[in-house]
Amino acid sequence: MLGSDDTSMAQLEVIIGLEVHAQMSTKTKMFCGCDNDAFGKAPNTTVCPVCMGHPGTLPVPNGEAVKKAIKASLAIGCTVNLRSHFDRKHYFYPDLPSGFQISQYDFPLSVKGKVAYDIVDGSGKITAQKSCGITRLHMENDAGKLTHRGSSTLCDYNRAGTPLMEIVTEPDLHSAEEAVAFAQALRRILIAVDASEADMFKGMMRFDASISLREKGTNTLNPRSEIKNLNSFKSLEKALQYEEKRLRQLWEETGGPLKGNITVGWQDDEEKTRMLRDKENADDYRYFPEPDIPPLVFTAKDIEDLREELPVLPGELKQKYMESGLDEKQAMQLLDQPELRTIFDAVAAKSDAKRASSLVLTQLLGFLNAAEKTVAQGPDAEAMLELLAAIDAKTISGNAGKDVLQKMVTTGKSPKAIIAAEGMGQISDTSAIEKLVTEAIAKNPKAIESYKTGKQAALGAIVGWVMKESKGQADPAMVNEILRKKVL
Ligand SMILES: [Zn+2]
Repeated sequence: MLGSDDTSMAQLEVIIGLEVHAQMSTKTKMFCGCDNDAFGKAPNTTVCPVCMGHPGTLPVPNGEAVKKAIKASLAIGCTVNLRSHFDRKHYFYPDLPSGFQISQYDFPLSVKGKVAYDIVDGSGKITAQKSCGITRLHMENDAGKLTHRGSSTLCDYNRAGTPLMEIVTEPDLHSAEEAVAFAQALRRILIAVDASEADMFKGMMRFDASISLREKGTNTLNPRSEIKNLNSFKSLEKALQYEEKRLRQLWEETGGPLKGNITVGWQDDEEKTRMLRDKENADDYRYFPEPDIPPLVFTAKDIEDLREELPVLPGELKQKYMESGLDEKQAMQLLDQPELRTIFDAVAAKSDAKRASSLVLTQLLGFLNAAEKTVAQGPDAEAMLELLAAIDAKTISGNAGKDVLQKMVTTGKSPKAIIAAEGMGQISDTSAIEKLVTEAIAKNPKAIESYKTGKQAALGAIVGWVMKESKGQADPAMVNEILRKKVL
């Protein structure tokens, strides 16, 4: 048959679900008063008997962590359970001194949410708007960190007891690209509600990804391959692409999906997955309710009070910026750089989005890039407003404003200081301009003659002369006006 697909391979669909672990940005750990910021600190210096799992110690839940987890839940559309509890999840590993992790099993903090995300092409255009269901969000404590050196292993318990949110998605994602776009959207939300700094370089956000294949048009969920411990968007993407290819090959060879669930690890250096365990060796964590911590009980009002505290969420913010005329790339720049957003919002509030975009996103960012400076190292919102005010008051022209901004970036001085030091103030004093115009007319008789014979353009030469003579500081509109009055 012409045009028919003669292979016996069925059309396959990829099914992906994620488990996301995000460290919460609290001052202290999940169940003790230890410093939660262990970054750069000497090993085993932010620990106490509670997070070291000593017998006889009592864990006390961190109220700040619970609040942040509720806010994150609400921001991803989850319903917070008015009653939930902690469970012990048992396993033995040297990074877990108590022999169990305190997590939430059958009664998690919140359930059933949804996160919208955009698929964007190389040029920054949105090609599809999608969403991914959230199964649940629960809280738990992190384990310590092991460093393997030759035949020995070093244990650092600074991270033990750090509060984590585990966010589990529905199997709603259908490609590595979708998984990454969703994970990035989720990360922005967690940062926006101040639940996590989600700093990828510090390992504050990690993913486990489950992937399986099925024939298109069917609804079965086949056994899946779970890829453990992916800690960057790049490894999430590469690992899923690799595993999808591998599962497709397997399907071709065996004529079907995996026979049972498997767990694999991603080898960043070799860029491939490695088998960790199959179904027969699946863990049994022997969950049971944590006897030392009472259930978490909230009223509907507790939850609504926290909902009131939520900021404008990234999706809404992006829409607002795009409606004001920014493109996707500009909107994302603002979403991802809060310092830049503060400056942009301040300038836009005193002018409009178009001017703010030109002044902040084009000029300021351009000068910062050229000077190899970050937004934090450049002028702040107050300095940018001072510059805007100087342009609006016609103290300087828009063009001179660019020079002032460049000097603000390179010298760190205020616009006023630069304008004064450089003598850049625009001349908008009528008598001074009149004097210049009179001089210009006297020195350019030919131009005046040709203007009087009907050549409007000849006046341009006179204006040019005045601008040159004033070193660009005369207000061109005033020069024009005065000149026209004089030659009429
Ligand atoms: Zn502690």
